[in-house]
Amino acid sequence: MPHYDLVIVGTGSGNSILDPRFADWKTAIVEKGVFGGTCLNVGCIPTKMFVHTADLAATPSVSSRLGVDEELVNVRWRDVRDRIFGRIDPIALGGREYRLNHEDNANVTVYEGEGRFTGHKELTVTLGDRTETVTADRFVLAAGGRPVIPDIEGLDEVGYHTSETVMRLDELPARLVIVGSGFIAAEFAHVFASFGVAVTVIARSGALLRSEDEDISARFTEQASRRFDVRLDRKTRRVRRTGSGIELELDGGEVVEADELLIAVGRRPNSDLLDVAATGVTTMDSGHVKVDAYQQTSVEGVYALGDMSSPYELKHVANHEGRVVQHNLLHPDERIQADHRFVPHAVFSSPQIASVGLTEQQARQRGLKYVTSKQDYAGIAYGWAMEDTSGFVKLLADPDTGQLLGAHVIGPQAPTLIQPLIQAMSFGLDAHSMARGQYWIHPAMPELVENALLNLDVPGTAR
Ligand SMILES: Cc1cc2nc3c(=O)[nH]c(=O)nc-3n(C[C@H](O)[C@H](O)[C@H](O)COP(=O)(O)OP(=O)(O)OC[C@H]3O[C@@H](n4cnc5c(N)ncnc54)[C@H](O)[C@@H]3O)c2cc1C
Repeated sequence: MPHYDLVIVGTGSGNSILDPRFADWKTAIVEKGVFGGTCLNVGCIPTKMFVHTADLAATPSVSSRLGVDEELVNVRWRDVRDRIFGRIDPIALGGREYRLNHEDNANVTVYEGEGRFTGHKELTVTLGDRTETVTADRFVLAAGGRPVIPDIEGLDEVGYHTSETVMRLDELPARLVIVGSGFIAAEFAHVFASFGVAVTVIARSGALLRSEDEDISARFTEQASRRFDVRLDRKTRRVRRTGSGIELELDGGEVVEADELLIAVGRRPNSDLLDVAATGVTTMDSGHVKVDAYQQTSVEGVYALGDMSSPYELKHVANHEGRVVQHNLLHPDERIQADHRFVPHAVFSSPQIASVGLTEQQARQRGLKYVTSKQDYAGIAYGWAMEDTSGFVKLLADPDTGQLLGAHVIGPQAPTLIQPLIQAMSFGLDAHSMARGQYWIHPAMPELVENALLNLDVPGTAR
């Protein structure tokens, strides 16, 4: 039975750990799917490449308000798809080739199969029709997660898509129904609707993007309802295939018909399939592996990162945790802690959303003292240029110190606009110093942030 110094399960963020500093280690990496993981192959990167294309396709719907009449002539779906994956697939293949055949990786054994723990620090990998069992002093669990498939009668028989398959469709459907109301549902709804598909979104709750700040979620739901057929507070009872498509029966007998069905109700970690319990690693109710501040699991020498252990389920978090794990493996006597103080996220739909820190409902629930401010895009010069009528930034701050507690943006370029606010929170810059301690380019979009800071009733800024 081969024994290693280190075995890494998963080649998403886990693949970045092995660098020349591990050249003297006997290492192995285990991958059951495509090299590069979710973000590269079926997540952040392809979705944003589709989103950018969708943004272009959607311009005629807004340009006429500005006096420019445009028309969308055609979306060459297969060309779009093949351009995107024609770029991504070779990167995944290149990553595999590098680990398998490059001299840098002489000390790395690649197991291309599904790993499952079968004992304490013992992993059995299924490689086609045979298995191989390996042991190691240290493991990194970087096996990510997978889409949750809800228990809906008839689902397996009708054939459905998840985020892992829907971007590879051969044809654009005329009608798409999306079951789910989170960020994946919101992004795909925008992509397909912009390409001319009639999109229906079915949400179990009373709002889309419910975990966002309540004002952001409400504004997004209102905007989305103008573009898509949004059905809120609905449970899908059963689905069946008919002569003309797929029929979903909702609570109360309501029926929705479409050509394709996308299930986007959330994701869960792969800790169960990896059987982490067999090596003594404990998990939370959500299935996420429990880790300490150093990213170590309940078993000494077994670390976890990314979607396997992080409720954030974001690539920038997985990357950060990967760097922490890498450091702690290399320097066991000088370990560092992961920093999860101000984790931002974005939703690349239309409108775009970005957020960091506390939502107002969280601040309220925690009984914190806070003030809020809002600034509409419509109230800044660049917002006039865009004729934006619905976007805004909302800030929460400590009324005594002016420290920002949360920032939420809905509108054009939200994920870019929020970055200085993330910086301020990360480095402890108070609202007044941030607003008045630097120039803000006029008339650029960040004036939105400047004005929102000045609108806060905190020391120094109240106008
Ligand atoms: C549609 C979509 C859009 C997204 N957009 C964004 C975004 O815009 N921004 C953002 O920050 N995040 C986004 N994410 C989330 C982001 O993709 C993930 O947080 C990130 O990829 C997680 O990285 P990871 O290394 O933890 O896991 P992964 O990248 O999923 O890597 C896990 C790897 O482990 C392998 N594996 C699993 N089980 C086993 C096993 N038993 N044996 C061997 N190998 C195994 C898998 O095949 C996979 O290659 C998106 C996700 C999706 C699905």
